[in-house]
Amino acid sequence: MQSGWRMGSVFGIPLFIDPSLFLILILIAFPRGIVWQQQYPAWGGSIAYAAGVAMAILLFTSVLLHELGHSLVARSQGIKVNSITLFIFGGVASIDQESKTPGQAFQVAIAGPAVSFFLFCLLSAVAYFLPGTFRPPSGTPAHVLAHDLAVLNLVLATFNLLPGLPLDGGQIVKALVWKLTGSRFKGVHWAARAGKILGWIAITFGAIELFIGRNFSGLWILLLGLFGLRNASSYDQATALQETLLTIKAGDAMTREFRVVDANITLRQFADDYLLNTIAPPALYAASNGRYRGLVTPEDLQQIERSQWEVKTVLDITHPLTEVSSVEEATSLVDVISFLEQNQLRRITVLSPAGAVSGVIDRGDVVQAIAQKMNLPVSLDIIRRIKEEGAYPPGFNVVALAQSAKEAGQN
Ligand SMILES: [Zn+2]
Repeated sequence: MQSGWRMGSVFGIPLFIDPSLFLILILIAFPRGIVWQQQYPAWGGSIAYAAGVAMAILLFTSVLLHELGHSLVARSQGIKVNSITLFIFGGVASIDQESKTPGQAFQVAIAGPAVSFFLFCLLSAVAYFLPGTFRPPSGTPAHVLAHDLAVLNLVLATFNLLPGLPLDGGQIVKALVWKLTGSRFKGVHWAARAGKILGWIAITFGAIELFIGRNFSGLWILLLGLFGLRNASSYDQATALQETLLTIKAGDAMTREFRVVDANITLRQFADDYLLNTIAPPALYAASNGRYRGLVTPEDLQQIERSQWEVKTVLDITHPLTEVSSVEEATSLVDVISFLEQNQLRRITVLSPAGAVSGVIDRGDVVQAIAQKMNLPVSLDIIRRIKEEGAYPPGFNVVALAQSAKEAGQN
């Protein structure tokens, strides 16, 4: 999640604030102001409300520190943290990469709750050593804030340790199952399953509170449950996608969308027969005497003087197959995906064991192969658009998923 307003950065990590956060700030600040005005008459209205606002801001500072805990531990493992976003349900650190070992994944997961627990201890000590009391009606604002924030940080640590994704406790379950079974994928599936169960429990409990108990806070629990359920499912899907990626070979994904050009024809004839009337020609390979000679890229034609087009042949601008970026039929799709990205290629040549051209793969073919294997309904229109634009649809983070699938496959 990287929506929202950029608010500078902490420890070099960009910090974003989602507009929904302001709603929750108000939902925390006002009720607190009202309650405290009644409980501590000596404060007066303006101090009670100011303390309510301070409370809301300090609460989200606590959430930020919790996320920083995860982020800094991840960074110490050489993992890049893209951003931290604060939003209505708390905070989220955007980390593309996975930890290399279950032990390291556990450290990243526990770091957030550990920070929250540390804040609980620290604020409790502050509340304890401050002169005076937090108890109504004679409590002071500093005392009340320290005491309430301590409690909220304890709640934050405990709530996040519930054992299901997307919560930290789910990440811990993932690390444990990963450690026990040796499979990160199994870890995610179990943790996601537990997360879905937690989500359904929250939805059921929230609905009972709301509709039978007539308690409005039930709506909040219900929404949290829905949010958790959706997130747990997307963890599950991303992992299923990674597992699928590892089973697909270049030979399964390639198409025969290429044409074979006679290597002996002149460039003039080549231009007239193959390039005229097409905006995006398919991959073109030159062949003669029943043998593939190499790849022909129409852009190379620009380098040749027009007067030479009648004299020179296609063979003169052919790149031998040994010099062309290619993969074998048995190459894994995750490698194809990384290769296309790293070399900024539009498509890649797939060679048969005998060294002949057996097919080509572009980003559209990658998506098509995944959709087919996972029974996803992806329309031909979408595939055609990906092929034309040479780019994956926005939000389809297959490149990062392929990278981490590759790492998981090597574990
Ligand atoms: Zn956390």
